[in-house]
Amino acid sequence: MKALFRVRLIRWYAARKRDLPWRRTKDPYRIWVSEIMLQQTTVNAVVPYYEAWLRAYPDIRALARAPMRAVLKSWEGLGYYQRARNMHRTAGMILKEHGGRFPEDPAVLAALPGFGPYTTAAVTSLAFGRPLPVVDANVRRVMSRMLGIRGPAGPGSDAEISRFLQTVISRRAPGTFNQAMMEWGALVCRPKNPFCLRCPGQSLCRAFRRGKQEVIPAPKKSSVKKIEAVVGVIRDSGHFLIQKRSEKGLLAGLWEFPGGKVEPGESLRAALIRELREELGLEIESADPLLTVKHAYTQYLVTLHAFAVTPSGGPDALPAIPEKKRSVRWVPLKSLDKYPFPSGSLKIIRALTNGDRGWGRG
Ligand code: SF4
Repeated sequence: MKALFRVRLIRWYAARKRDLPWRRTKDPYRIWVSEIMLQQTTVNAVVPYYEAWLRAYPDIRALARAPMRAVLKSWEGLGYYQRARNMHRTAGMILKEHGGRFPEDPAVLAALPGFGPYTTAAVTSLAFGRPLPVVDANVRRVMSRMLGIRGPAGPGSDAEISRFLQTVISRRAPGTFNQAMMEWGALVCRPKNPFCLRCPGQSLCRAFRRGKQEVIPAPKKSSVKKIEAVVGVIRDSGHFLIQKRSEKGLLAGLWEFPGGKVEPGESLRAALIRELREELGLEIESADPLLTVKHAYTQYLVTLHAFAVTPSGGPDALPAIPEKKRSVRWVPLKSLDKYPFPSGSLKIIRALTNGDRGWGRG
């Protein structure tokens, strides 16, 4: 039964798979880049990033030698910037400790930054033909249905799923098998309305036999927090004041307009006054609403209110930035694109660049 399933799955994959750029290579570097980008990001969104990344950093050496700011800039818009930071560190370690050659041993790979069980299995199976099953969100969902696992699909069931897949994975073509499993989850055993009648695993599927494919896995409780934040867009002689976030925590090391979270019960204006006073020692003469943008991060939904701020006391009150203070800068509009920003701030920059509300240009 398992052998038949394996054959059917691989045949289905050969006939139906999407033609994606990272499926045309066995180069571990390229496979690794795609696998990291695809974590938390959709295939369609990844394709242009993947191609641009390989133009900028065609191999591990180029990535290891690039400055971190450039790497974060290339990653801008993909989110989860820790992935880019880990890739940069890992590239440096592979260059230094392995002469620039990707290690084939899963235990060695698993010790590198950003190599969890999924990435290790994906790179070693796709690039080096090691029979390690991958378990990503798609595979979790498919296998929860196949094995009739109760509760929401999460890492808690990975060991059970992995044990089962060890008994099914193709020893001759483990990479193809793993790709097929993920593609099957993406195209057939979809989160809603799975195509059970076209499914290569139907005869093995417990959820299908019991008519429970719509309720397995159980939905997860949402843990998305809502955050309200204010930022001051401060301009002087065509330059904008930006500051770098801390190197730790959410959106670490990215740049932003000064501001911060609105406290419970606080008005937007009061929050702006408090944040600019605390962060820059700046008092406000006027603050006019510029625009409001919303952006969803993994566990947060951020509503960002941007104000065009005129400091009191005229230009003399503007903070002079000492040369060595590298975390605050005055930057002309056309040079803002040299700095990595979170997606919410990028929407504000886009509005400034387009001259929306007549505030950006000039
Ligand atoms: Fe998924 Fe339906 Fe196939 Fe079961 S039969 S694995 S629920 S598509």
